[in-house]
Amino acid sequence: MDERDYYLEKQEIKSATFTCPKCRQTSDFQVRWLRRTRKREMPRGGSELDRAKFAKARDYMVRVDDMLFCPNPRCRSRFEFPNSQTVVFI
Ligand SMILES: [Zn+2]
Repeated sequence: MDERDYYLEKQEIKSATFTCPKCRQTSDFQVRWLRRTRKREMPRGGSELDRAKFAKARDYMVRVDDMLFCPNPRCRSRFEFPNSQTVVFI
């Protein structure tokens, strides 16, 4: 069983402020995240190991976007997230 089967997935947009490394302009960015909420009940067909993993599963969010695009029309630079955190436990 895939670990993703334990969760319900929902996409969310969170706004975050970052500074472009090229033009140094600070802007708000809309960042896409995927919220994984543990299902209320274990999906059918799971093994003993799946059940144990399911019991320990926690809700979390995964960042979908890898890159940011500077909104400054004179820059339009593409850059990576300044922090490398891609998973957040809720
Ligand atoms: Zn820029």
